[in-house]
Amino acid sequence: MDQNRRQFLFGAASLALSRRAFGEGLFCQQTSTRLILLGTKGGPSLSDWRKNPATLLLINRTPYLVDCAYGASRQLKAAGVTPNELRYVFITHHHSDHNLDYGPLIYNAWATGLPVRIDAYGPPGLERMTQAFWDYSKFDIDTRIEDEGRPDLRKLVSVHEFSKTGVVMQNDDVKITSALVRHPPIKQAYAYRFDARDRSVVISGDTTYAPELADFAKGADVLVHEVMYLPGIENLLKRVPNAERLRQHLIASHTTTEDVGKVAARAGVQTLVLSHFVPGDDPSITDAQWTEGVRKHFNGRIIVGEDLMEI
Ligand SMILES: [Zn+2]
Ligand SMILES: [Zn+2]
Repeated sequence: MDQNRRQFLFGAASLALSRRAFGEGLFCQQTSTRLILLGTKGGPSLSDWRKNPATLLLINRTPYLVDCAYGASRQLKAAGVTPNELRYVFITHHHSDHNLDYGPLIYNAWATGLPVRIDAYGPPGLERMTQAFWDYSKFDIDTRIEDEGRPDLRKLVSVHEFSKTGVVMQNDDVKITSALVRHPPIKQAYAYRFDARDRSVVISGDTTYAPELADFAKGADVLVHEVMYLPGIENLLKRVPNAERLRQHLIASHTTTEDVGKVAARAGVQTLVLSHFVPGDDPSITDAQWTEGVRKHFNGRIIVGEDLMEI
């Protein structure tokens, strides 16, 4: 099946899901909160199939982007959002499959005519990363300010670092909170919870089994959780030279299908969305295999995420 056809089918399927999720009346209101998976493959390597991680929420039409792996700018565009509409960026942790497109994304917002400032939130390191990108692109930014009369991009981005669980930001539309998760060796790795007027969405970020995430996600409508399929990582490991170290890293820092089910059940969420698949580049793993372990513990609705799927 070619890519366009697949995307059409995913789009059609997710439209149906959205209608079911919201009911016809609410769905028609443009202000309802929309959740769109931009990239669902865990890890930094590139795949022709799933794109690297990024998740979009549109709350009262304003885009909130959680993580921006390589290609996030293009996936944002593919979801119908021009980069210059971007207003808020949230980084869960500083692995490159969550931040590699951070600088380019902000740049692309400017290049397409950034109208307002961007607020970027994330754990320590975000400020330094932002400054490093200004150094990286200094020649181009200075040239375009002088030559094309553009505003100074560096004055349009506001960085907010945080280093503990709690409220990250709040406005009239949404309250956003963070919770520390378990993603060794990284100490500062967070999940985010978006409590909008019409629905609550929790995004796990990268974590190994973290029972406390269930308390954080208590009563949420949707939990987007990372997932690892243990039998599948053995195939993945056959293809890399650093197999043993990588196996240890994956098991210590990601969540098995069974444990995702435990978290979702304990949280009592209505809908569990699997994303950040490890491995994320093996189409031979079926949806049934992804959900089998989860189902042992969780009886609610399970969605096996796809790029550009709306939930
Ligand atoms: Zn990751
Ligand atoms: Zn990670």
